[in-house]
Parts: sequence; structure tokens; C-alpha cells
Amino acid sequence: MLQEIPYWWHDALPTLGARKAVESNCDVVIIGAGYTGLSAAIELARSGKSVQVFDRGIAGAGASSMNGGILSGNLRLGLKASMDAYGEEVGLAFYNEGIVAREAFREFAKLEAIDCDLKYNGRFTGAMTAKDFEAMKRAATFENDALGTNIRILERINQNEIIGSNIYHGGILRDDIGSIHPAKFFQGLLRVAIDAGVIIHENTSVTDISGQFLIQILHNRSIGKIKCKNVIVATNGYGDNSNGWLRRRVVPITSRMIATNIISPDIISKLMPKMGTFGEARYLARYYRPSPDGTRILLGGRDVLAGNNPNGAVKKLTDNLITIFPELREIGVQYHWSGQVAFTRDEMPSLFEKNGIIYVCGYCGSGTIWAPWLGRKAAHMIMENKKKYTVFLRQPPKAIPMYYGWPWFLPFVIAWFGLWDWIKGR
Ligand SMILES: Cc1cc2nc3c(=O)[nH]c(=O)nc-3n(C[C@H](O)[C@H](O)[C@H](O)COP(=O)(O)OP(=O)(O)OC[C@H]3O[C@@H](n4cnc5c(N)ncnc54)[C@H](O)[C@@H]3O)c2cc1C
Repeated sequence: MLQEIPYWWHDALPTLGARKAVESNCDVVIIGAGYTGLSAAIELARSGKSVQVFDRGIAGAGASSMNGGILSGNLRLGLKASMDAYGEEVGLAFYNEGIVAREAFREFAKLEAIDCDLKYNGRFTGAMTAKDFEAMKRAATFENDALGTNIRILERINQNEIIGSNIYHGGILRDDIGSIHPAKFFQGLLRVAIDAGVIIHENTSVTDISGQFLIQILHNRSIGKIKCKNVIVATNGYGDNSNGWLRRRVVPITSRMIATNIISPDIISKLMPKMGTFGEARYLARYYRPSPDGTRILLGGRDVLAGNNPNGAVKKLTDNLITIFPELREIGVQYHWSGQVAFTRDEMPSLFEKNGIIYVCGYCGSGTIWAPWLGRKAAHMIMENKKKYTVFLRQPPKAIPMYYGWPWFLPFVIAWFGLWDWIKGR
């Protein structure tokens, strides 16, 4: 039977455990208990600071326990486009930092003994047309030459070693992109944060950050005030009107996933022989992967394609799955769920300071690597140590014209991208 709950929560329901009283004074307040907020909190607490993290809902129940678990660390701008837009040095630095951030993720999970089904089975990105494949080959060669990466090009006749689907015209394969069980990773992060002395308050909204040092919260239906020395805002696509300034700069887009019913092992191993993860070179790309136990396939895409109607979106995603793998026509879907991803105008992750408050946002749907990485960078800014350096520390993102919190333009933008994919035969 179809259930609206993240598939992941059956193994690792986000749970905080014992609650603590809100303290009216602390060194640092962090808003948002996801990968970003907790990663910052751990560093700060370990450096001796008193840290309180507030989440409007359940800790982790934002995007951080329900994502696809693909450790892409992608940037929306390709390397060449990034070098053209930001200059050679900065463009390269964005990508080099991605390499370091991916490695840091692996080391952190190992060092903290976080059992999150971390695997490196390769990420295949498929080309929807022969022309796209040629462009992909050029981009992969350029990246390998500039960064020393080892992106493999898979011709169409060889792609069946990775994927049992014929819809792609070849693709690229990256061995440095792994996968996790996102909710197990979140549980591990939570455990490390609590052990480090971080105090986390759920169901507590931060309703005002009018001054840098005074935070207003709504807790148990009563308003409280907290004095602190620093604030980090890590609200991703879940920001609300309590920060209208930020809201004008970050657009939330709903991303929905489906998980199939159980598939027989011989079919799964035919469709995904290396049990890697998958994406596509198109504007409205789908992302998919096997569940960590190899019994199901999970696929995601943008909800807005179906006018934010969950039933329509599930049908659309199921049709997408069948387009890729016609063998799954009869398999059916057991779980679906959705969350918010956050886009800024330049579609790049951003760390910035405004009026003494530190903000981290804009991972554009690729936050499993960037959120822990930039969360830690935010902490290092407060700790003022040399680890704070990052090329993502930039000016605040520009406000989006005529946008005040309701992304009225999204259906048009998505329709436009859909049209382009259609025109290009993708
Ligand atoms: C369906 C889906 C699939 C995805 N798949 C992938 C993937 O495969 N790979 C990848 O790299 N990325 C993926 N992402 C993106 C990734 O999950 C996010 O970028 C990442 O989890 C962001 O972490 P975060 O800590 O910044 O935000 P979140 O985990 O979203 O946390 C933000 C928190 O802020 C809280 N909050 C907001 N306002 C307030 C307030 N005023 N007071 C208190 N609390 C507040 C919210 O309640 C929320 O819990 C996916 C996202 C979704 C939704």
C-alpha cells in the first residue's frame, strides 16, 4: 500500500531523545537542526563554546533525513562555465573545494564511526541525446585535465555494465561520488552533536533575530528571549517570514521521491549491476539509486512538475521510472515523500555574513556534501581559525525581483526548462 513517509525513516526515524531546558544565555545560537546546523554545532561545542540549536519541527525532519543520499557535491555550473563566470582561479577553486569536501565527508563518517551504509559504487550520469553525449565527453575531458579527476566516459554500447536501460546515449561515470542512508547519517550526526555537548531544541521556532545578540523563540506556545554572541542561520529551503530578507534570496523548490515495492534480486542486479547511483544531463533531471539493502529502487524529481499535487507527482515519477526501466511496469510504488531544496539566484552554495549573522544556504539540491562542509566553515568563522577559508564565503545572494516568499514564477520556469528538454529531445 502506498504510504506518504520517507522510506528511510523505517530504519532511522529522526529522534532526539531527552529534552533539555532552554538556556537564556549561550555563546552561539544555530537555527535549523539539519546537516548544516549540526555540523557547525559540533565544531563549536568541541572548541568549548556553549551552543543551542533550535528547530521549528523535529530535528532532521527537514531535508537532512529524507534526501536521496547521493554524495554528489555537484555545482549547477559546469567547470568551464564556472571559470567563465567567476574567472579561472575562482572557478577552479569551487571545484577543487568540492574534491576536498567529498574526502572530508568520508573521513568524518569514518572517524566518528557513523554507520550510514556509506558506499562508493560509482555515479553514472546519462546523456539523453547523442549531441549531449558529445558535450559531456568534452566537459569530462576538460575537468579531468584541469583537476586531475578520473571521470570515465562510457559509450552507449558499454553502458550496460552500469545500467540496464537503453534510454541513454552514453554517459559519464564517477567513482568519487558515493551514497549513504541519509537518515542513518543524520542519526550519527545527532549522536556526535549530543556527545559534544550541543543542546538541541525541537518544535521551537526562532521568530525574530532583530539584533545580532538577541533571539526570540516560540517554545511551548510561549515567547522567550535568548542572549548569545553569534548566530548561524541554517534553514535551507525551510525559511519563513521570520526572516523576510533571507526569504527574498532563497527559493524553496519541492523535491519528491518514490521508493518501489520490493524487487527481486536478479531484476535489480540486471538494472543496476554495480548498485551505483544515477543522474541525467537534462534541465529537469531525475536522480535514482537502489536502496542500501538492494531490494528497491528510489527515484526523485521536482514536484512542481505536477503542480505540487502529490498524487500527480507520484504518478509522474512512477511513469519516469518505467520510462527508464520498462521491466518495472508492474512493480508499483510503496513510499513517497517530499522536502524542500533551496536555490539562490546564482545557483551556487553560499556562506555569508550580514549584520554579524552568519548564513549558509543554496545547495540547489546537492547538500549532502556541501551542508556538512559549509556548516563547519561557518563554525570556523566564529572560531576565527585558519580552517575558515572557503571560496564559498561570498557576498549575500541577490534578492530575486518580485519575489517575497511565494515562488509564483516556478511553474513558468519549470515549464520553460521542460520545453527546452523536449526541444532538445531529452
Ligand atoms: C527529497 C530530497 C532529495 C534530496 N536528495 C539529495 C541527494 O541525493 N544528494 C544531495 O546532495 N542532496 C540532496 N538533497 C538536498 C539535501 O538534503 C539538503 O541540501 C541538505 O539536507 C540541507 O541540509 P540543511 O541542514 O541545510 O537543511 P535542512 O535539513 O532542510 O534543515 C533546515 C531546518 O531548518 C528548520 N527551520 C527553518 N526555519 C526555522 C526557524 N525559523 N526556526 C527554527 N528552525 C527553523 C527546519 O525545520 C529544518 O529542519 C535532497 C533534498 C530533498 C528534499
